[in-house]
Amino acid sequence: MAPTESTPEVQVYDYIVIGGGSGGSGAARRAAGWYKAKTLLVENGRSGGCCVNVGCIPKKMTWLHASINELLPHARAYGYAIPEDIPFDFKSFKEKRDATIVRLNQAYERNWAREGIELVRGTASFVPTASKSSELHELVIALEDGSGVKKVAAKHVCVATGGAPMLPSEDETPGAGLGITSDGFFEIDVLPKNIAIVGAGYIAVELAGVLNALGVKVHMFIRGETLLRRFDEMIQTTITRRYEDVGVVVHKGFEGFEKVERVEGEGKMLKLVGKGGKEVEVEELLWAIGRKPETEDLKLENVGVEKDGKGYIRVDEFQNSSVEGIYALGDVTGQMELTPVAIAAGRHLSNRLFGPPHLSHSKLSYKNIPTAIFSHPEIGTIGLTTSAALTLFPPSSVKTYQTRFSPMFFDILSDEAKSENPIEYKLVCVGEEERVVGLHLVGTGSSEVLQGFAVAVGMGARKRDFDATVAIHPTAAEEIVTMK
Ligand code: FAD
Ligand code: NDP
Repeated sequence: MAPTESTPEVQVYDYIVIGGGSGGSGAARRAAGWYKAKTLLVENGRSGGCCVNVGCIPKKMTWLHASINELLPHARAYGYAIPEDIPFDFKSFKEKRDATIVRLNQAYERNWAREGIELVRGTASFVPTASKSSELHELVIALEDGSGVKKVAAKHVCVATGGAPMLPSEDETPGAGLGITSDGFFEIDVLPKNIAIVGAGYIAVELAGVLNALGVKVHMFIRGETLLRRFDEMIQTTITRRYEDVGVVVHKGFEGFEKVERVEGEGKMLKLVGKGGKEVEVEELLWAIGRKPETEDLKLENVGVEKDGKGYIRVDEFQNSSVEGIYALGDVTGQMELTPVAIAAGRHLSNRLFGPPHLSHSKLSYKNIPTAIFSHPEIGTIGLTTSAALTLFPPSSVKTYQTRFSPMFFDILSDEAKSENPIEYKLVCVGEEERVVGLHLVGTGSSEVLQGFAVAVGMGARKRDFDATVAIHPTAAEEIVTMK
């Protein structure tokens, strides 16, 4: 049958990648750029995905902006005549941040074009395969420009559609939709005077820190007693205490809001009514209670791709889904939702599918992945927490080393500033040889310091290898190789 407008011809590729975020871009570029696979990339949003547009990049830029505000008053102690009230223009900063993101969007598109990747803007969904004997997976793409659909097929399809922030349903919390999520945070150009942030994870802690450093009164609503409950006990305690010391109001044991209501008047004002009846009025409410996988449009049921109880695509260690030839990686799989993880998984998968025979078993190891939290101060962490080590190994074989000190920067500041800005490091070691299985850092520079130490931990370094390393003086990081 000749193709007509209603039955467009199916275009066949070696590889179809759904999602042009960190993981999809990494997978497509490796396949097309290195191995010359005929690759189609389908994207229904902004090039670069979450990290570039509403994640790592605008977040880190805002963290840098806020860190300057935090640091400026300290310059007085160093002899600078810093006025009491230092005005800053958040709106103009936001405009520059947005312009940087547009440049990054374009850089992604240039890289894809240079490497011969065909980009189609639209939403991809699986269609049931016409013939059971066919090796090809068929997809239909609803084109973004409204010009219709495109039918495509490939033997290999990589799903890298990421995730989206979660909000409680209106049934659960009437008025929840009056709040924003991290996506909405990046649209703010006039800072609220005060804000409520629900959650105790990466995003809640990072955005609370940024806003507090910019002079916004922050209320955090957390279910437990500490922030960052999934991290080492030292991190939880230090960061919770630190946030409280600098004026963040941490409402612990949070059981949910009865309702959220708009308060009549000029501008946005919300009344948050807690389950216990406690009320707080704030100009903004930000939900940071986790993210959910983006799978709705994919019609995975048409091909039988399995999801887990939380809706993440189930994959094995090679990123294979339950259907041969369909793979998934990045946030849509719920495996350590970090940009470098998604990129690395994408590259490994393309090595395996299109690379030379010696890479036919290429896969990402999800063990010992370092991560940083851009809180105030920063956190860097890799490996096991103390409690995880105590569960996995005989308790008598677990030994921890911990140090707390004030960084040199604060030596000529007040005692209060010194005690408010500690650095804390912890090593978790196991066995007679004291292999380092966890390293947890809180304090200025921790995200940068961790990267090199992550190599050592990944290689199985022992405490004595740390001790044998000559310190770099005077630094904060030298404390990691001189712990007693
Ligand atoms: P995404 O980057 O989300 O890409 C998925 C893409 O698929 C999107 O562009 C989407 O438009 C597209 N898509 C979805 N469905 C379809 C469809 N049906 N058809 C076509 N296209 C589709 N990680 C770090 O490592 N460091 C950080 O500092 C950091 N900070 C963060 C801060 C915030 C506020 C957030 C929210 C996240 C942060 N992350 C950070 C996490 C990081 O951004 C994600 O782990 C990463 O972007 C995931 O990449 P991905 O490729 O899996 O998904
Ligand atoms: P997280 O999973 O880190 O944290 C979600 C938090 O929400 C948990 O700490 C949980 O706290 C809390 N929570 C869940 N449900 C509720 C509820 N109903 N009421 C109150 N609190 C609730 O998710 P995020 O959204 O912060 O971030 C998503 C992912 O994005 C992260 O896991 C991370 O992988 C990635 N990311 C990485 C960053 C980085 O690399 N620097 C920065 C930002 C995001 P508890 O269980 O203690 O109650």
